[in-house]
Amino acid sequence: MNTDPQIPGDSAQPDAAPAAIVNNTAIPLAPTPKVARPAVVEFRNVTKIFGGEKPFTAIKNVTFKIEDHSERGEFVCILGPSGCGKSTVMRTIAGLTPQYPQTSGEALVFGRPVTPSSSDRGMVFQDYSSFDHRTVLDNIAFGLECQGMAKLDRHALAMDWIGKVGLSRDKDALKYPHQLSGGMRQRVAIARTLILKPRIILMDEPFGALDPATRLSMQDLLLKLWHEQQATVFFITHDVEEAVFLSDQVLIMSPAPGTILEQRAMTRSALPARAAQREASFLQHVFALRDVMEKLEQPA
Ligand code: ADP
Ligand code: MG
Repeated sequence: MNTDPQIPGDSAQPDAAPAAIVNNTAIPLAPTPKVARPAVVEFRNVTKIFGGEKPFTAIKNVTFKIEDHSERGEFVCILGPSGCGKSTVMRTIAGLTPQYPQTSGEALVFGRPVTPSSSDRGMVFQDYSSFDHRTVLDNIAFGLECQGMAKLDRHALAMDWIGKVGLSRDKDALKYPHQLSGGMRQRVAIARTLILKPRIILMDEPFGALDPATRLSMQDLLLKLWHEQQATVFFITHDVEEAVFLSDQVLIMSPAPGTILEQRAMTRSALPARAAQREASFLQHVFALRDVMEKLEQPA
């Protein structure tokens, strides 16, 4: 009789507790060590000096690491005074010039040095970045078109996304960007990026130009879509309430030349934005962050 221990289970389920079966009895084995996954994004002493007649150091020794929780992703807000280098950090992750490449240090995405463009990263900007001559439908389908997807298929997917971001399939699909409000344009921008299912979503003050009520509903929409996508989001904002509502973590940057002062873990409310803002724990986070920001913004 063969009494050799057998390791049961499916190698596609690495998290199942390992056990040996001896005479039909499961005997627990020591857990197999998990293979370390590279961080989603890691910066090691990244410095950017813009050239020209008078070289200017925009960020200096920026160091942080966002771990890969592949089953849920992480929502990371970048907060810091104006001009401290938030966009420089984000555009370096995106591989967009002239911020990319950095002058020194290492910028890694999934353990590898950043490359100029890749489908694993998608970006949403503050200014409405849709193509003026394309309809909502064709703006949202743009990335799929670049990938070579057939027209019928990409239009079907884009129609889905028009609904997902709260636009009307009947009324809005064939409109042009100039016929849309700011909030609607940012819904198009979000759909255009998320339809490609990037693992990293980069958002540079995407709601900065919206009125307060629209902003709150966009925050709720973004969290809902993000939960479905399991991506890691980097989101730049000046608005402390927005950061507290959205974040798992906040990266707080110093005034220029920007560096990371603190990487602070947050606890997200389960309530919608409007209701969350009335919770005592939410307000405590807001006051604590606001104190840090006010100190940073005082002239030295
Ligand atoms: P933030 O997004 O935090 O407001 P930025 O990352 O846009 O800040 O810019 C950081 C600093 O670098 C600013 O002082 C800005 O003027 C400067 N800067 C940004 N881009 C360039 C560039 N292409 N050439 C020279 N200086 C730049
Ligand atoms: Mg900026």
